[in-house]
Amino acid sequence: MGKILKISYTKLSFYLTCPRRYYYRYEEKRPFYPTKKIKYGSNIHRVLKDYSELLKVGEIPNKQARQSLFNNQWTKISKNKEEDQQFKDQGLEQLEKFAEINEKSAQNILFLEKSFNFPITHDISINGYIDRIDKIEDNCVDIIDYKTGNTRQLFEDDIQLNLYALVCRYLGLEPKKLSLYFVQFNKKTSVDVQDKYIDEVKNLILNTAGKIKNKEFKPGQVIEKICDECSYKRICPDYKDFIFNLYKYNNKK
Ligand code: SF4
Repeated sequence: MGKILKISYTKLSFYLTCPRRYYYRYEEKRPFYPTKKIKYGSNIHRVLKDYSELLKVGEIPNKQARQSLFNNQWTKISKNKEEDQQFKDQGLEQLEKFAEINEKSAQNILFLEKSFNFPITHDISINGYIDRIDKIEDNCVDIIDYKTGNTRQLFEDDIQLNLYALVCRYLGLEPKKLSLYFVQFNKKTSVDVQDKYIDEVKNLILNTAGKIKNKEFKPGQVIEKICDECSYKRICPDYKDFIFNLYKYNNKK
């Protein structure tokens, strides 16, 4: 049997935003340098998981316990002390806001950071973890992804959440709602699951995995916003060309 290709949402989004970026990270296995935004998000996810685990077993940590739980999970984001403290203050404020609302809804939590690894064909599997799965009733569930950045509209065809809905089917659960929880604003937004989008995401995974197996790594368009945060822009020939042309254009004006 050939090698199994494991696809996570992160891998899928790397490939979809830029196949060359995927190639550098997962084929050449070059180091990846998370941005401050990503480091902050990881810190908050760990804090919320620890906190929610306590709620799930019926414990309600007081402010002091929340603070110590927060400190245990916090890792440095910036070398600049002042900036690091600002991130920390913001994170602690988010935890306090989260606590206000979630103490009451904790009894619905079925899973936190649910890890998964399922074969979807004989040589492709999907893996990763889901931030949170809440029970609605019987076997029906609400799939929740925590977001630490700005709010945005959630659409029924959201790739990440529909991938998780596919996973829920494998777990024997019935996905009914897809939700984003914007931690900074303590705001949850949800849409109903539509089976056609779960099937679409499955096809997208199969299609992308096929391209990866065929070694199709031509970059897409250079998109400033993505390239700016890309760990590989210093070695990427397309980015160099882009900057060179931009420089030429600006000097013509
Ligand atoms: S710099 Fe841009 S084009 Fe180059 S690998 Fe990164 S995301 Fe892709």
